[in-house]
Amino acid sequence: MELLTKEEMIQAANLYPYSWTLQNEIKNEVGLPLDFDKRPWLKAIYNDLSPHQAFLKPPQIGATVMNTLKSLWVAKNLRRQIIYTLPTQGDVQDMVGGSFNRIISQNPILMDWVRDHDTVEQKSVGESMIFYRGTFTSKQAMMIPSGLNIHDEVDASDPNVIVQYENRLQAQEDGGWRWYFSHPSLSGHGVDVYWQQSDKKEWYITCSKCDTEQTLQWPQNVDMDHKRFICSHCKEILSEEDRAYKGCWKNQDGVVWTGEIAGDYLFSGWHVSQLMLYNKTAKQIIDAYNDPLKDKQYFYNYVLGLPYVDSDDRIDPAVVLRNCVDTVNDQTDRVVIGADTGHGIHFVCMNKQGVFYYEHATTISASQTPYDRVKELLKRWPKSIAVFDQGGDLIGVRQLQSEYPGRVFLCFYNKDRKSIEPIEWGSNDEYWKVRVDRNRMMTLVVEQLRDTGRILLNGTKDEWYDFAAMFGNMYREKIVAKEQKGKDDRTLYGSEYVWKRNGPDHFAHAFLYAMVGMQRFGGGEAKVVGDNVYTGMQSGRIVQAPVINSFAPDAFTKENQVLL
Ligand SMILES: [Zn+2]
Repeated sequence: MELLTKEEMIQAANLYPYSWTLQNEIKNEVGLPLDFDKRPWLKAIYNDLSPHQAFLKPPQIGATVMNTLKSLWVAKNLRRQIIYTLPTQGDVQDMVGGSFNRIISQNPILMDWVRDHDTVEQKSVGESMIFYRGTFTSKQAMMIPSGLNIHDEVDASDPNVIVQYENRLQAQEDGGWRWYFSHPSLSGHGVDVYWQQSDKKEWYITCSKCDTEQTLQWPQNVDMDHKRFICSHCKEILSEEDRAYKGCWKNQDGVVWTGEIAGDYLFSGWHVSQLMLYNKTAKQIIDAYNDPLKDKQYFYNYVLGLPYVDSDDRIDPAVVLRNCVDTVNDQTDRVVIGADTGHGIHFVCMNKQGVFYYEHATTISASQTPYDRVKELLKRWPKSIAVFDQGGDLIGVRQLQSEYPGRVFLCFYNKDRKSIEPIEWGSNDEYWKVRVDRNRMMTLVVEQLRDTGRILLNGTKDEWYDFAAMFGNMYREKIVAKEQKGKDDRTLYGSEYVWKRNGPDHFAHAFLYAMVGMQRFGGGEAKVVGDNVYTGMQSGRIVQAPVINSFAPDAFTKENQVLL
């Protein structure tokens, strides 16, 4: 391997902001060198030069220093003119007059770059300029060419002015670069709008006790009683080394970040929560949660770095757990298995007495796949049926379908909007298919779980904790449909609720599939004989479905009818 000369090393270092800060021993506003060992997740964000970026950030993570350095680096090295907005003119005074000027004066190389130290509103950097503006200062965005707009504290800024800046950028040859940084506020507002269009990268750490990779989440990674961080999987104490000093960024599809957006996403998205910070203790996090002077939104926005969702639009895991009952499910009624594929198989087993089992099957060896777990259960309960999502490995499902004819179904989240029924079972050639209105069905499932006692979870709260936790990762948003030419059916509805997630939600969907199966197969057993229960039956015949125990099928179809 050829050794680089010193000049070549300096050149190479200048290719990215992170290596540049190291090479030049860049210091923060109080003269301390930047310490990436304590914030390993910050390196990738420093180096991200994607044209479109969205960053959900809590306070105290060094974002002001990073934004200052990255903007200076881009102005100088990429020669992009920059417009940097903050909510108000006062914020501009504070930032430029304060930390910006102090960072410059701590670093000789920056003193070289920035010739004009005097104006707060504009700085010349090499051959470029950075303009600083408050969004409430004037009703109009500046009429100057810009190669990069940095919008800091988006959620506290005037959204109309930010949109005007976006429109101005479109005149640029490359469409212009847009970076949005903010602590989030409400779901669907401010920085969350851009985050939703992003690859949604989360920081993954690995528990060295059980080797499970995970993102740090509230409350799964916090032991409330002993006030310490724990592994969400094995529940053992998470060492500080494991929690704060090692990890990697992965996007919402589980793809490791290599410096470029993987997949068809417009924005490069970053989410940092205080759970990731080396200088935050579990006690501080719990105290922030219990702080009587702060509302839940504060905890979401400033501690978790997440947009807040109104209580109607989510279900607290504690509410799910209220359905736990200490009765044994004798498993004599017909069992329905709901299975979500993708990351192994997450499955849920229920019958009309309640939900009695859930599991994440991941074992993959030469002799066993996760599908074999479901197969064992189909064998164990000869009258059971299984409903799978259609997103996974269809070969596994097809095999099960041929081994257990008439008992394995595929659920499609592509319900015809014009139909009123949220669930439509296929017939004849498409007997194995069920189409479900994803968002209406999830709303229904959540409403039924909220109505305590309607759907029973057989077992203790501890046993159902991991199941319930996944419901905490989902939230509902109202999407207002814009009028679109040629899309008449959509405009009929005007607006609709859409369920989104900010963490794993596999068990919630597995449960939804089980509920879909219950709608048709959860009733009495009189019509079912033997294994291959549906052969020879007339399809399309309408029969009355018996009302099941505490579960309410009439919520699904207004006539309480099903196709058999
Ligand atoms: Zn562990």
